[in-house]
Amino acid sequence: MTGEKRDIKSMTLEELEGQLAEKGCRAFRAGQIFQWIHEKLAGSFEEMTNLPKDLRERLSQEYDLITLKQEDVKVSGIDGTRKYLFGLPDGHVIESVLMKYKHGNSVCISSQVGCRMGCRFCASTLDGLERNLRPAEMLDQIYGIRRDTGERVSHVVIMGSGEPLDNYDSLVRFIRLISHEKGLNISRRNITVSTCGIVPGIEKLAEEGLGVTLALSLHAPDDRVRRTLMPVANRYPLEDVMRACETYFKKTGRRLTFEYSLVKGVNDNLAEARALAQLIKNRQGHVNLIPVNPIKERDYVQSGRKAVEEFKLYLEKNGINVTIRREMGRDINGACGQLRRSFMEQKS
Ligand code: SAH
Repeated sequence: MTGEKRDIKSMTLEELEGQLAEKGCRAFRAGQIFQWIHEKLAGSFEEMTNLPKDLRERLSQEYDLITLKQEDVKVSGIDGTRKYLFGLPDGHVIESVLMKYKHGNSVCISSQVGCRMGCRFCASTLDGLERNLRPAEMLDQIYGIRRDTGERVSHVVIMGSGEPLDNYDSLVRFIRLISHEKGLNISRRNITVSTCGIVPGIEKLAEEGLGVTLALSLHAPDDRVRRTLMPVANRYPLEDVMRACETYFKKTGRRLTFEYSLVKGVNDNLAEARALAQLIKNRQGHVNLIPVNPIKERDYVQSGRKAVEEFKLYLEKNGINVTIRREMGRDINGACGQLRRSFMEQKS
């Protein structure tokens, strides 16, 4: 971050109004500036041509307009998926992905640099947590992709590197800004927050009144197996996690997604499918099966096609809503976090 300047892109419209009023600006200026930042995606104060020149100068002296640097982009020849590597103002890099579906364009963003949750199969957590992302840095992943492609973004999934509920305040601020009617105005129903199961965070989000979709990374139907894959399961037992999910549904009316990465010989046999069906039954939600993406630092193996199909079939027969997550951009796809790792390895 450059010196003492304030981060204007992370500010709400109300905050901006308050600060401009203090400077003696006319009331409508805050709305203009907010629109330049969040709707027209301005890259500098200079571009804000309907503001008086002296105001533009004052703004650039007092505020930072955080903009990410596009370090790299890989484009899939199969389905047009675009994987971006963005540089942050302090030199860290993060990954974001644009996926094109029939129902619209979806961007997957990172919420932290690294992660401290320690899930065993995940590349993002191998070096621990570097730092939280600011709301502006979460926003600019989407703004940057929109600037680069000119494409509309209708869906946002917070499923990149990091645990969003471990960066709670920035997450909530980000959601309010990205769904603001004077900004990109992305429908909150089309925003999905994915969590490894931080119970107090889920409960708090349920009270926030945002109406976003919650995805729980389940990956096992019981604590014994879950603890071998996800250290966070030692802290929050499944019973409490599922109760928090229930609360989330009751408060928001939003159905949950349960993510389940299938790891050969660890969580993919029919006994686990049975236990999973039992766990999910009578809950409002559906299961997303993801054959685990192997990372070279660990020796987990992806479940075979047949095992995945059988697992799915069993759940379906037991009345569970289930999909196998289509692998997007298979030709450019390392597991999440791997593009960033290979970039850093090259640099060092
Ligand atoms: N921290 C959040 C969001 C980021 S991870 C969470 O845990 O949900 C997004 C999803 O990808 C999670 O379900 C995570 O468990 C899963 N994931 C991470 N690495 C993976 C891999 N190598 N293969 C398959 N799924 C993976």
